[in-house]
Amino acid sequence: MTRFKIALHYQILIALLVAIAIGYLFPNQVHYFSWIGDLFLRALRMVIVPLIFTSIVSGVISMGSSGQLGRLGLKTFGYYMLTSTFAILTGLLFVNMIQPGIGADLGLKQNVDHLPTDTLTFQDTLLNIIPTNIVEAMASDNILPIIFFAILFGYFISQVKENQRKTLNNLFEGLFEVMMKITHLIILFTPLGILGIVAKEVAHNADRLGAIGQSLLLYMLTVILALLVHAIITLPVILRFIGKLSPFKHMNHMATPLLTAFSTSSSSATLPLTIEAIEKKGKVSNRISSFTLPLGATINMDGTALYECVAAMFIAQAYGVELSFGMQMIVVATALLASIGAAGIPMAGLVMITVILSAVGLPLEGVGLILAVDRILDMMRTTVNVWSDSCGAVTIASSENEKLAASIKR
Ligand code: ASP
Repeated sequence: MTRFKIALHYQILIALLVAIAIGYLFPNQVHYFSWIGDLFLRALRMVIVPLIFTSIVSGVISMGSSGQLGRLGLKTFGYYMLTSTFAILTGLLFVNMIQPGIGADLGLKQNVDHLPTDTLTFQDTLLNIIPTNIVEAMASDNILPIIFFAILFGYFISQVKENQRKTLNNLFEGLFEVMMKITHLIILFTPLGILGIVAKEVAHNADRLGAIGQSLLLYMLTVILALLVHAIITLPVILRFIGKLSPFKHMNHMATPLLTAFSTSSSSATLPLTIEAIEKKGKVSNRISSFTLPLGATINMDGTALYECVAAMFIAQAYGVELSFGMQMIVVATALLASIGAAGIPMAGLVMITVILSAVGLPLEGVGLILAVDRILDMMRTTVNVWSDSCGAVTIASSENEKLAASIKR
């Protein structure tokens, strides 16, 4: 990069600010920009499936031959569940301390008829991991079955005759490199894409924000405070003391994907940028990143898990329902399951709250209470989701003794 070029994450920051100004000041003109955002999202979605498929297959081939797949799989899964649980408990603590829902005005409730309520149960999510038709799973961006098939595919490539294995390994490594190059090209357009996306969102939501009541403000504050504690205390402590990594350096490497997650509210759409940043800037091997990041973008959603818990507790408080300790533990457990089941797309978390509400017997229309501020909280929880995936990838890579750019090991 030359001296006169502005670093990409500064370009994105400038684009964000310009987008907010345009969306706010000229809400009727945003259509001049919003198509750029659509174009950018389409390009990202175009690379997701081939990128994660080739990335996982080539990563698993190298793991499969050394017999590390099961161990790494368990480690990754365990790590993700643990951090999501920490996140939920942080949310529970704050919502019990601040109690934003007590005395909330139920009259502010919005109609939720248009929300898709046919959410998947946890059993469905488990069952759907095995695709009946892999082409269909790919065509409908269904990430978990694609991950499952790619792991099987990569593993059994590592088990075939040497000449076949080498050819296939070369082929998939080559394809992965090609996908990374296409991703890199798309990333160059991130500032423009974000300008389009954010201007449109601000224009659509600006008038709504003026009307939010005090209890909703308090609710937002509770979610944001808890998210901040998780993102800037809990995860950095894990990075520093378990990963032996500098949280600041790591955050610097992740600036572009984090700003993109914030702007798009989608961890899946951000995934190509996360993979690029973790491998190129963080220096994590493809063996680890290919496994931890796609899995993380689908099942590890610390921000969403925390949000699910706070939102459900807020609704309980607003309806004057006092939840016992046991009931609160059910909220914790179902929030974890809901975050695993939520897709990495905008508003997925909002829909999943119905799972928790029905588990503890609260009225499903309670979701209408928090609808007005969901989009802004979605931006924040998605950023935490991506941040937590990235922390997982580097911490696990470090525990596998990889030499990382953020390392502070001597
Ligand atoms: N938008 C979030 C994500 O993509 C999911 C959610 O709605 O909580 O990570």
